[in-house]
Amino acid sequence: MRIGVDIDGVVSDSYPSWLDELNRHFGKNITVIDDYDMHLVFDVPREDMNNFFVGNAERLLTMPKPVSGAKEGLEALLREGHELIYVTARTIEEKDVTLRWLTMSGIPHEHVLFTGFKSKVDAVKEWGIEVFIEDYHVNAKLIAESGVPVLLLDTSYNQKELSKGISRCHSWDDILVGIKGIQSQGNANCKTI
Ligand SMILES: [Mg+2]
Repeated sequence: MRIGVDIDGVVSDSYPSWLDELNRHFGKNITVIDDYDMHLVFDVPREDMNNFFVGNAERLLTMPKPVSGAKEGLEALLREGHELIYVTARTIEEKDVTLRWLTMSGIPHEHVLFTGFKSKVDAVKEWGIEVFIEDYHVNAKLIAESGVPVLLLDTSYNQKELSKGISRCHSWDDILVGIKGIQSQGNANCKTI
């Protein structure tokens, strides 16, 4: 199958390392990211948060470790004959640092699409993606509504009711089970923990 894979929060364990940096920068002591919008978590203007990310992009995108099990999971999917298309909301200006990070982290990658502020659904359609791995529930909903099943990696900021076509997975092992389910019977059947 042709599998769409988000990067931040799915392959790159971005948020925990950003949490430390943001606490330092904004002088806070936040321990749980309970909203995908970081300016809401830190209770600062959206513009201040955006400026921080733009001003420190190189460092912030280089520092995270891979999500536990992501590298092994992606390698397993390739061995099983699947195709991987990374689809990230990062911008084209962040392409070089992103590709460097993927290489440095030993994450296999051939196709990486940078949607920026555009919808991921267009890329999903254009590339004929058949299943998508995502952590942001809003993207998951839009992709699922377009008819493509989504495996949502469980995080502290996506604890929302899931709509049809989205399966919550608790680990990369769980994602591999979900992919097998979709391939063999059309539904993810992620094991629940
Ligand atoms: Mg993400």
